[in-house]
Amino acid sequence: MAKKWVYPFEEVDQAEKYAGSWDGVRGLLGGKGSGLADMTRAGVPVPPGFTVTTEACNEFRKTGKFPPGMWDQMLEALKVVEQKTGKKFGDPENPLLVSCRSGAKFSMPGMMNTILNIGLNDAVVQGMIKLTNNPRFVWDAYRRLVDMFGTTVFGVDDEIFAQPLTDYKARKGYKLDTDMTADDWKALVGTFKQAYKKTIGEDFPQDVYKQMELATKAVFESWMGKRAIDYRRATNISDDLGTAVNIVTMVFGNMGDDSGTGVAFTRNPSTGDKKMMGEYLMNAQGEDVVAGIRNTQQIDELVKNMPQVYNQFMDITSKLEQHYKDMQDVEFTIERGKLWMLQTRNGKRTAKSTVKIAVDMANEGLITKEEAVLRVTPEVVDALLHPQFDENAKKDAVVYAKGVNASPGAAVGQAYFDADTAEKMAKENKQATIMVRPFTKPDDVHGMIASQGVLTSEGGATSHAAVVARQFGIPCVVGASMIKIDLENRIMEVNGTSVKEGEWISVDGTTGQVYVGKLPTSAPSLEEQTDLLTLLTWADEITARKEIRTLPDGRKAPGVQVWANADYPKDARRARSYGAKGIGLCRTEHMFFETERLPIVQKMILAETSEERTKQLNLLLPTQRKDFDGLFEAMDGYPVIIRLIDPPLHEFMPDEEKLLEEVIEMRVKGETRGLQEKENLLATIKGLHESNPMMGLRGVRLSIVMPEIVEMQVRGIFEAAADCHLRGIVVHPEVMIPLTGTVKELEWIQPRLVRIAKAVMEEKKATFTYKFGTMIEIPRAAVTAGELAKLAEFFSFGTNDLTQMTFGYSRDDAERNFLITYVAEGILPKNPFQTIDREGVGRLMQMAVNEGRQTRPDLEVGICGEHGGDPDSIEWCHMIGNNYVSCSPFRVPIARLAAAHVALKYAGQKILEDK
Ligand code: ADP
Ligand code: MG
Ligand code: MG
Repeated sequence: MAKKWVYPFEEVDQAEKYAGSWDGVRGLLGGKGSGLADMTRAGVPVPPGFTVTTEACNEFRKTGKFPPGMWDQMLEALKVVEQKTGKKFGDPENPLLVSCRSGAKFSMPGMMNTILNIGLNDAVVQGMIKLTNNPRFVWDAYRRLVDMFGTTVFGVDDEIFAQPLTDYKARKGYKLDTDMTADDWKALVGTFKQAYKKTIGEDFPQDVYKQMELATKAVFESWMGKRAIDYRRATNISDDLGTAVNIVTMVFGNMGDDSGTGVAFTRNPSTGDKKMMGEYLMNAQGEDVVAGIRNTQQIDELVKNMPQVYNQFMDITSKLEQHYKDMQDVEFTIERGKLWMLQTRNGKRTAKSTVKIAVDMANEGLITKEEAVLRVTPEVVDALLHPQFDENAKKDAVVYAKGVNASPGAAVGQAYFDADTAEKMAKENKQATIMVRPFTKPDDVHGMIASQGVLTSEGGATSHAAVVARQFGIPCVVGASMIKIDLENRIMEVNGTSVKEGEWISVDGTTGQVYVGKLPTSAPSLEEQTDLLTLLTWADEITARKEIRTLPDGRKAPGVQVWANADYPKDARRARSYGAKGIGLCRTEHMFFETERLPIVQKMILAETSEERTKQLNLLLPTQRKDFDGLFEAMDGYPVIIRLIDPPLHEFMPDEEKLLEEVIEMRVKGETRGLQEKENLLATIKGLHESNPMMGLRGVRLSIVMPEIVEMQVRGIFEAAADCHLRGIVVHPEVMIPLTGTVKELEWIQPRLVRIAKAVMEEKKATFTYKFGTMIEIPRAAVTAGELAKLAEFFSFGTNDLTQMTFGYSRDDAERNFLITYVAEGILPKNPFQTIDREGVGRLMQMAVNEGRQTRPDLEVGICGEHGGDPDSIEWCHMIGNNYVSCSPFRVPIARLAAAHVALKYAGQKILEDK
C-alpha cells in the first residue's frame, strides 16, 4: 500500500500515532493543518478539509513530481469532504469550492501562498448564481480566483490585474471596490481572463481538478520561493521542514450583512493584557482585514452586531487558550450568521507581552513557573532593557504624526520609502534607517529587518507590518493616516510639513508617536518592570535549587550564580539592583587613570628607587581605599573579587610619538625650560617599549618585578574591608592575581600579599573571611591548574585572553581582518570571542576545573570575560561546574534567565568530567 500522504481533519489521532507526539504532528501536518485537525477533534466548527503532509512536499521537492499515491489520496479525501458538505467539486448544480493553503511547522505569516475559491469555472459560476441569487458575490469570487491563480501559481505581476481594475473604476467614476456591481465584476472577469491568457500563454483552467493540482504544486514550490527563504534565514527555521498543503471547504464572509471575517488575539499581543484584541469586517473575505484596505471594526463591537456569534466566539477562543496553554491568534469567518474557525496558532507578541503573559498564565495556574521561565528567551529580556525615548525630550518635542503603537521601542533613523533602499542604506552605508511605506507586503521584510524602525500610513494592529515588526522586535508605528507618502517624489507630508527621503525621524513604537529629527533615548529602569522582576525571581529560585547539578563525587550543587563586572561603586549598585550575587571582576587600573591620580601614577612608574616608588604609592593609597570602601558597602554580604594591576605600564604614560614631537619642537625653538624632564620621560617610555606589550611585562609578571604596587593595592583592599567590617558591613574580599602561567609565580607573590592582609587585620582588629586566587587566562595555567590550586583558593577564567592565546589570535586584528571570513566559510562555527569555543578553549576550562578541584575540592570557579553574559557560554559554564559567571551589569538579567534555562535543561545531571 502506498504511504499515507493525506490526512482528513478527522484523522488527527492517526497522525498522532504515526508521528509519535504532538510536536511530530505539527511537523507532519504543519501548524495550520494540525490546528485545524485539533479543533475539529475538539468539536470546534471548522470547514471540512484535509492536509497533505510536509513529507509529500519534501518528496516533491526532490523529484519535481507528486509522490506515488498522493493525488489519489487527495481525490479520496475530497470525496469525504463532498459527503460532509453535501456539495460536489466542479458540479454547477451544487458546487463545492475550496481553498488551498500553505502551512509549515512554524508559522511564517504571509510568506507562502494561499489560493481561495478553487472550483469556480464558467459553468460553476452560472450554477452558483442560481443557488445564491447573488451574482455580484459570485463574479467577485471568480475574479479573485483568476487573479490569485495567475499571481501565485504562475508568479505573474499583480499589476496585470490591479491596473485594469483601477482603470475600470476610474472610467466608471467609482472610488471603492464596493461600488462595483455584478455586471462590473462580470465585465472585469472577462478582462482578467484575457490578461491571464496574454501573459501566461494559456487559458485559465476550466478543469477544477487541474486547478487543485496546480495550486497544490504552487504551494509546495512556494517553500523554496525567495520570500520564504529570506524569512527562514532571519528566523533560523530549517529548509528541510517543508510545508503542508491544506484543502479547506470555502466559507464566505462576503455573502451579505450577516456575513463577515476577522482575526483576533486572545490577549493583547503588544501589552500582554488579558483582553481579547481583534478586528473584523462585515461582508468581506479573509485577506481584506489583514490587508488594511478597509477600516476594520474592533472585536468588541461584534457583540452588538451578532451577540450569539460573539458569545460562541469568546467561548471557543477561551477554550483554545486553555487547551494550548498559550495566547492564540485566530482567524474566523461568519457565513450567513454561522461562525467558522479557520485557523488557530500561538500568537506572535512583543517582548513585553511575552513576559507578562508567561507570568500571568503561571499565576492563573495554566502553566508552571518553570514553563513560564522557559517561555521567555534571553533575547526577550535583552529587548526589554533596550533604550526608550527620554521622557523629558518627548515633552519638548513636537509630535509630527500619530498612529497605532504596533511594536514597542524607540527607533531613530533616516527615512527611506522602500525596502530595497532601506536595506541598502543600512547594509552598505551603515546608516540607521527607518522604513516608511503606505503598508508592507511579504517582500518588504528584508527592508524591515535591516531597519531600526518601521512606519506605515495604513493598516492596523494586525496588519502585516505590525505582525512582522513585533516578531523581530522592531519598533513600529502603523496606520499614521495623516501622513501623505509620495513614493514617486520620495517625500512625505503632514499638514504642509514635509520630510524628504534620507531625513532623520524618530518613531516611538510604545506610544505610536512620530517625531521629525533625532530624539535622545535612555535605558529603561528594571525596577519598573514588575513582571520581569517576578520572572527573574522565579529564575533565581530554579538556579538556586540545591540538587540542580551532581558533582563527580556524587554531592549535589545548585546551578550557576550570576555576578557582575564592576569597577566603581555606582556600577556595583546597579549590578546589585539587577540581581548580581557578587562582583566577579573589579579592574583596579581604571582607578589609576583619573585626572588627579595619573600624574602620581606616572611619578611612581618613573621612580628610580623603591623608597621613591613607595612614597608615590602612599599618596595613592587613600584614594584606592576609598574606591574599595564604596564597593564593599554596595555589595554588603556578597563576595567582591578585586583584580590586582594587569596592563603594561606604558598604558599609563603619555603617548611616545606626541612627546617626541614636543621635545623636537622645543629643541628647534631653543627652549630649555622643562626640556630635561621631557627628555628623561621620553627615555623612560622608550625603555618601557615592548614589541608585543600584551604578552610582555604585565599582570603577575609586573607585580614580581615591581611588587610595591600590588602591596599598596592589597593594603588598600584590606584597610577598606576592615573599616567596612567595623561599620557592620559584611565583607568577603577576594584578591585576584592576573595572568598567572606557573605556580612559582604564585609562590613568589602570594605569601607576601597574605602577610600584608593579615597585618592589616591585626592593626585594625578586624577578622573576616577572604580569599586569594588567580585568573586562568594562559593555556599553561589551565594545563597546570592542579598545581595552581595548591595556592589559589579560587579560579576565574579570563576567557578573552584565554581565547586569544589558545587560538593564537589577537582579538582586534582577528575581528578586523579574517574572523568574518572564517565564520562565513564555516572554518569557525561562531565568533569565539562572543561564544566560548567548547572544543578548544572550553576543553581547557573543563580540564582546569577538574584538576583544580582534585587539589582543592571546594575551589570556587567563575568566569569574568565577556562570555559571562552570553547564553551559550553560560550553558558551558554550567556543564563544567562553574560556581558563577560574571558579566556586565546590564547583562545580569539576561544571564540570570539563561542560567535558569540551563538549570532546567540539565536538571540533576552530573557535571562533565575530563574526557
Ligand atoms: P496565511 O498563512 O497567510 O495566514 P491562510 O491560509 O490562513 O494564509 O489564508 C489567507 C486568508 O484566507 C485568511 O484570511 C484566511 O482566513 C482566508 N481563508 C483561507 N481558507 C479559507 C476558506 N476555506 N474559507 C474562507 N476563508 C479562507
Ligand atoms: Mg492565516
Ligand atoms: Mg586578561
